[in-house]
Amino acid sequence: MIRLQGINKTYNVGQNQVHALQDINMQIEQGAFVAIQGSSGSGKSTLLNVLGILDSYNSGSYYLENKLIAGLSEHEAARYRNRYIGFVFQSFNLLPFKTAVENVALPLYYQKVPRRKRNIIAHEYLDRMGLRERADHLPSELSGGQAQRVAIARALIAKPRLILADEPTGALDTATSHQIMDVFSDIHGEGVTIIIVTHEDEVAQKAQRIVHMRDGRVLERV
Ligand code: ADP
Ligand code: MG
Repeated sequence: MIRLQGINKTYNVGQNQVHALQDINMQIEQGAFVAIQGSSGSGKSTLLNVLGILDSYNSGSYYLENKLIAGLSEHEAARYRNRYIGFVFQSFNLLPFKTAVENVALPLYYQKVPRRKRNIIAHEYLDRMGLRERADHLPSELSGGQAQRVAIARALIAKPRLILADEPTGALDTATSHQIMDVFSDIHGEGVTIIIVTHEDEVAQKAQRIVHMRDGRVLERV
């Protein structure tokens, strides 16, 4: 589903260039569960942002479902993201003045699904995450683990084929991290491709495949 060939990405910082991704070659099959591991600054988030079509790359090619992802307009990129990809972040990124169910329903709002229908579906996804009783709570009234499950429900509601998660357990305690990883394992069991960035060994061990990064390069240990 994902093919990266000779991907390079640099950032210009004043007079200096940071080579954030260096000659990345990688293939990820549909239904894979991959962890990307590496120390801070190794390029994990940059790689995830390229995969998520949130950021561009300087050279090489990125194919998603055999489509070359390059030179897309912002509108086209958004269309691909909405169609294929769900995102989960370390800091949950929930809208603070929307309830849990409104947050989950948001992708359907953008798809112009009528309010009543999107509410019903959002409740189903919250239910699945064991959060039925929290539907009308604001993010500030949720624990970290609950907030992350709301974010996962939101990522799933548009039925993505790919979930990209950047340090999804980075703000959670160990027990809660395990719960969240179990949720990802369940989703993986349903055939969704999952790519999780983490610097925690325990989290990475739950994946089928671990990709190590260092200084913008992939060092794969199979
Ligand atoms: P990681 O997620 O593994 O901690 P990042 O992908 O965030 O690493 O960063 C990789 C490198 O690129 C680092 O040297 C970082 O400082 C640099 N970098 C990341 N984002 C930017 C940016 N927006 N502007 C300039 N440099 C950046
Ligand atoms: Mg990062």
